[in-house]
Amino acid sequence: MSLTRVPGLLFGGDYNPEQWPEEVWAEDVRLMAEAGVTMATVAVFAWSRLEPEPGAHDFAWLDRVLDLLHEHGVAADLATATATPPPWLVRDHPEVMPVDAQGVRLEFGSRQGYCPSSPVFREHAVRLAAAMATRYGGHPALAMWHVGNEYADHTLECFCPESARHFRAWLRARYGTVAALNTAWGTSCWGQHYTGFEQVEPPRKAPGPVNPGQLLDWRRFCSDALLELFAAERDTLREITPDIPVTTNFMSLLHGLDYWTWAAAEDLVSDDAYPDPADPGSHVAVALSYDLMRSLKRRPWLLLESAPSAVSWREVNAPKPPGMMRLHSLQAVAHGADGVMFFQWRQARYGPEKFHSAMLPHGGVHTRGWRDTLRLGADLRRLGEVAGTATRAEVALVFGWDSWWGLEAPESMPSNRLRLKELLLAWYAPLHARGIAVDLAPPDRDLSDYRVVIVPNLYLCTAEQAKALAAVTGELVVGPFSGVVDESDQVHDGGAPGPLRDLLGVAVDEFWPLPDGATQRVRHAGGGTGRARTWTEWLRPDDDVAVLARYEGGDLDGLPAVTRRGTATYVSCLLDDVTPVLDRVLGGVPAIGPPPGVEAVRRGRHLFLLNHTTAPQQVTLPYQGRDLLTDTDLRGVVRLAPRDAVVLRIEGDT
Ligand SMILES: [Zn+2]
Repeated sequence: MSLTRVPGLLFGGDYNPEQWPEEVWAEDVRLMAEAGVTMATVAVFAWSRLEPEPGAHDFAWLDRVLDLLHEHGVAADLATATATPPPWLVRDHPEVMPVDAQGVRLEFGSRQGYCPSSPVFREHAVRLAAAMATRYGGHPALAMWHVGNEYADHTLECFCPESARHFRAWLRARYGTVAALNTAWGTSCWGQHYTGFEQVEPPRKAPGPVNPGQLLDWRRFCSDALLELFAAERDTLREITPDIPVTTNFMSLLHGLDYWTWAAAEDLVSDDAYPDPADPGSHVAVALSYDLMRSLKRRPWLLLESAPSAVSWREVNAPKPPGMMRLHSLQAVAHGADGVMFFQWRQARYGPEKFHSAMLPHGGVHTRGWRDTLRLGADLRRLGEVAGTATRAEVALVFGWDSWWGLEAPESMPSNRLRLKELLLAWYAPLHARGIAVDLAPPDRDLSDYRVVIVPNLYLCTAEQAKALAAVTGELVVGPFSGVVDESDQVHDGGAPGPLRDLLGVAVDEFWPLPDGATQRVRHAGGGTGRARTWTEWLRPDDDVAVLARYEGGDLDGLPAVTRRGTATYVSCLLDDVTPVLDRVLGGVPAIGPPPGVEAVRRGRHLFLLNHTTAPQQVTLPYQGRDLLTDTDLRGVVRLAPRDAVVLRIEGDT
């Protein structure tokens, strides 16, 4: 099933015609057709042009844009245009602007200037969404609704009185009584006992560390409050245009929003991904976020924004060298994307994003950028048959947002150096290097499909989640500092690993974080040595537990570092190299084993080989088949030019 009614892989970008005189539009759509663009994201920031005065709509220009797009074979990912309120709304209702933790109300003049909990903003946003749906529901260009934009990019939280009221209502619904809230938040500590919900406030700037239970609920609330705002628009759209899929563009592995919950609330998952071209490891980190997007609904997704070359918001914005834009785009398809789109179509001449690259650069059709656009469009047309196909992964990496929020609370942890992304990548990178497909999964999902389940960290682990992990039928690997607290951020009885105690057969006597730069030697039972950094633990294993590695030297000399009970492995530290653990647990999981820097990804009956290095590479094909990019039959050893790719349609029995 395709994501929208547009066949093949979607190709296109954000189109902001309101930034250009109308005579430019004809050239835009002519060049879009030339490049093979099939979809344009329109009107994301157009509220002030669509509703220049309260309730007075000006749709005529957007009518002409959508007509032009349709005449040139381009479908519209039409925004509800609510990503930024117009000046009149802020002037008439200053309270729609968000307030920071210090109590400062932010000003108009950027974007995403709204309080997530503002009923005034919500009412106006829903009204505009309804007007858009009514106006364009029957337009032949309309293929998809794009609600808001990059929720939580600038505005994740607001500390205004309205947000405080909303937070209290959320807490009432969660706890029922203030007594239950007192218990959950542990308000007996530091004299915070509440006698009524009206005394409870958001965690504004306080003299010292804020109550961690309050902070965790605030993180949950902020994700939920924005989701409510999204859902209000979505419900309106579904009512008026029930057949048009609704999405909002995610921001890869974003700390602020629980995308497991968010994805369930939309019809298709779309993502904005901006790997840094200056970071040689960026293709690995971005592959992880692509796999997350595919895993959110366990179906294909859409890369809705990426950069053709440089972005405009880093300290130094490196361009993408020749070949990288194409390679990263094909990489998204390899990891389950059914389309590749960019920010943006035509490079802006003004505004904060005027130096952000575009499909059609300032220099026009004689530029390298435009040639790259044409080439990618042609490549994606050749890959049309990949659209809709599924990925089969036998390895799952498990994480949850609750646990992430708890782990990375700003104060009061044993170490602030344990970061979830780093913990995930420590396992993901070597799996990726071996060409092993990986799904991401939340801790409460049925994991019985997987041969290997790796939980890099589950600081917050409930009894139910522990049960789900105990039900894993394959190999289970649990990383350090897991099973520490319950859903209220309170330490489990008996300490870590709490509800995982019997499953793993170890108790943690004491956390032993390492200073920055320090390492701890680890000796594996097989004989080799490795190093741990950032984190170690003083473990007390049960008698029947096998010790797979011990700390060597230092304060923990001789104590177990990696243990195993049955098929459950516990790794009590952040290992520099997890190869010995992977070698033991991966067993018969198929691995393609490409050369270093070459990514090998199976998607359905297609094999993607992506050379991320700047040197030619040779790969011995595990299958024979036809390369869709060059339309040639391949078998045996193939040569990949620097930053080149092969997309093999595998022939015969696989
Ligand atoms: Zn607010």
